[in-house]
Amino acid sequence: MTATQIQTPAPATQEYDVIVIGSGIGGLVTATQLAAKGAKVLVLERYLIPGGSAGYFERQGYRFDVGASMIFGFGTEGTTNLLTRALAAVGQKIETFADPCQIHYHLPNDLELKVHRDYEAFLQELGDRFPHEREGIRKFYDECWQVFNCLNVMELLSLEELGYLFRVFFQHPLACLGLVKYLPQNAGDIARRYIKDPELLKFIDMECYCWSVVPADQTPMINAGMVFSDRHYGGINYPKGGVGQIAQKLADGLVAAGGEIVYKARVTQILLEGDRAVGVRLANGAEYRARRVVSNATRWDTFDKLLPSEKLPGSEKSWRQRYQKSPSFLSLHLGVQADLLPAGTECHHIVLEDWADMTQPEGTIFVSIPTLLDPSLAPAGHHIIHTFTPSWIEDWQNLTPSEYQSKKEAAAARLCDRLEAIFPGLNAAIDYQEVGTARTHRRFLGREDGTYGPIPQRKLWGLLGMPFNRTAIPGLYCVGDSTFPGQGLNAVAFSGFACAHRVAVDLGV
Ligand SMILES: Cc1cc2nc3c(=O)[nH]c(=O)nc-3n(C[C@H](O)[C@H](O)[C@H](O)COP(=O)(O)OP(=O)(O)OC[C@H]3O[C@@H](n4cnc5c(N)ncnc54)[C@H](O)[C@@H]3O)c2cc1C
Repeated sequence: MTATQIQTPAPATQEYDVIVIGSGIGGLVTATQLAAKGAKVLVLERYLIPGGSAGYFERQGYRFDVGASMIFGFGTEGTTNLLTRALAAVGQKIETFADPCQIHYHLPNDLELKVHRDYEAFLQELGDRFPHEREGIRKFYDECWQVFNCLNVMELLSLEELGYLFRVFFQHPLACLGLVKYLPQNAGDIARRYIKDPELLKFIDMECYCWSVVPADQTPMINAGMVFSDRHYGGINYPKGGVGQIAQKLADGLVAAGGEIVYKARVTQILLEGDRAVGVRLANGAEYRARRVVSNATRWDTFDKLLPSEKLPGSEKSWRQRYQKSPSFLSLHLGVQADLLPAGTECHHIVLEDWADMTQPEGTIFVSIPTLLDPSLAPAGHHIIHTFTPSWIEDWQNLTPSEYQSKKEAAAARLCDRLEAIFPGLNAAIDYQEVGTARTHRRFLGREDGTYGPIPQRKLWGLLGMPFNRTAIPGLYCVGDSTFPGQGLNAVAFSGFACAHRVAVDLGV
């Protein structure tokens, strides 16, 4: 049976060990880990295919990634290669293309920089631009390696499970103490310890912002350590056939391991008995019961839409005082003539003309050209350019259909005009164009306001404020980007490993 088949729902009375609401990477890693341990698992997905923000869609011979396309976690060494490990746990593997460069930055004041896969080549290039800061640059990024090296020796499981914590402490005492030290710290504080040049500090802000969507002062050092080191260790690797393959293969592996996945199955309610979560109800009225329920929907969708409002636990209320929804993205999916791109063009780009606009809507532009690594995703002689920029839902509400359409076209034209600076001739080379707004992300990804995920409301103590997988509602767990350690495919895979581990211990499987 393949993952894309829609299966007949099981009888409503059937009891599962675990029901997972949603088949994003967080939900699928939880489900596959549990199924591999022998638990009886059911995944319910509202959409037609698995993957959520790591899904795909096809138009006129192009296969577009919905969101993610700069993929960490496909390394072969260490313990932080969580996508490789998650797939292997259910007998799956994906061929990948190694990306020689994580990002080509095009920043204000002609700050043109490439983050090479080779660490020394990156330090050399950054040091050439800021020769007076060469030592500080090395000290900052070397400290990121200290975090990464601690993480990369230990099995990454649930920090909510004391047995695991004791075990890992006795196996790797120094690494654990190292991590405890960094847990409450943010990358900006450490960068400022070594670096004084204001432009270089802005660059470090952008290094953080382009995946955490907050500047360095609000970016936890644990996450920065992972990203700034793993890009040179496991590297950035693009899955053959597109990012959607990751979810497809996990779903295949789930079914092969005895789990079930049902598409077009929108959960509208988490069923409670007393205060305990005991199952779910779907939009079509079907009910499923399980000993444990895991929600891969965002915390806002889980607690505001699937549970009665009077059940909002105090812990969720206080979390909402610390974290807010990040903006969504305006996504522009382009098919372009291949000769637009000169030889040597990199796969991922970040564009910003004025530092003051970095965190503003339509400020920073993100660009990915996955066909440079996997040409099979576009018709011969063409490339995909996926470009996106932050955008709030409020800017897309209360519009008539024609107003919405013209606003989308105007926003796409603004993006293309700005991208002409790095791809001269872009407008004339467009073969296909599709625009997604915050409304599109909300509708197709089932994410409140189309948000990319939680971001700190203010400067917090590193990662200490991010919730783990258990919730205040007995029997209910959350997994994915609104749990520790946050957004990104490898991060939500970490959350999935941790959630499955906690649930398995609770169930005794
Ligand atoms: C434009 C964009 C670009 C990105 N770029 C990158 C990148 O380059 N690299 C990277 O690592 N990360 C990137 N990310 C982030 C990354 O994609 C996400 O952090 C990650 O995919 C989130 O996974 P998740 O499992 O938490 O949730 P999601 O992907 O949101 O999955 C949740 C799933 O649950 C389903 N669901 C929700 N509610 C219900 C319900 N009531 N009933 C049934 N099913 C439900 C949804 O349909 C969805 O399939 C990007 C994200 C976006 C939007």
